[in-house]
Amino acid sequence: MTQDAHTRRQILKAAIGGAAGILLGAPVQRLAAQAAPAGAVAGRLADDLFVLRIPGETNVVAHVGADGVVLVDGVSTAGTGALMKAVAALPGAGPVQTIFNTHWHPEHTGSNELLGQAGKTIVAQENTRLWLATDVTWPWNGRQFKRLPKVAQPNKGFYTGGQLNPAIKYGYIPDSAHTDGDLYVHFPNQNVLAVGDVMSGQGWPVVDYISGGWIGGLVGAHQRLLTLADAQTRIVPARGPVLSLADLKAHASMYSTIYDRLSTMLNKGRGPAEAVEAKPTKEFDERMGNGDEFVRRSFESLWGYLSPDA
Ligand SMILES: [Zn+2]
Repeated sequence: MTQDAHTRRQILKAAIGGAAGILLGAPVQRLAAQAAPAGAVAGRLADDLFVLRIPGETNVVAHVGADGVVLVDGVSTAGTGALMKAVAALPGAGPVQTIFNTHWHPEHTGSNELLGQAGKTIVAQENTRLWLATDVTWPWNGRQFKRLPKVAQPNKGFYTGGQLNPAIKYGYIPDSAHTDGDLYVHFPNQNVLAVGDVMSGQGWPVVDYISGGWIGGLVGAHQRLLTLADAQTRIVPARGPVLSLADLKAHASMYSTIYDRLSTMLNKGRGPAEAVEAKPTKEFDERMGNGDEFVRRSFESLWGYLSPDA
């Protein structure tokens, strides 16, 4: 059975079982029990736009259009079956046609292989495309990442941005906030911005300096996103709840404060252990969690960008 036939059967199932189970207008709802995997939740951003939460996985934004579904990020390989069932249970959903990779990390790109094998479009910024074609090791914990098989690699790269159609625009976030290949997807009609891990709705972010991410980039990216958002914009991060302009402003100011503190310490010749000890995130930890790991990575990330001998 082809992927399309499989998907169509699931949609049919969802279409039959879904009408009574889904109440449009509720901000968050359970998916139709017959078709959706246990625990999956579809938060409704608009009639045709949803944030899907599969247990143990990061957020996925799903746009349901006349010519199929567009996803912003997938989930892990293990979670992909559950994601596809959750997509098929959305009201009016056809087959997934396009997926955006907001960056290369495997918890969001594990769905690429299934979709690539089905001949779907996988969009990524050019740096993300390159990371997904390369083996990576994180020196701070030894974690190794294997390059994706060719069929799972993005098949539509871009440098600065573009649009799938006037209702779905995307752009590069060139500040190297989380990685050097971060992208956002903008849905202007619904006033929704999907930003992957550039914004964190839950806990401190990973500062992946191996793929270019750094604390100065977090500051720059948040300032950039401020130029794209207004008071009504819903911002969907890869983790945690949907965020607002107020959250974006608060995070921009928070990262700026931390950046100033860490760069001052670097200029005084301090090291990462001293930076952690100085608790430069202390007034934010109640909201964001223990900041030690974030501070250490952030400080190390400064070496690549600010150290005179780097
Ligand atoms: Zn990430």
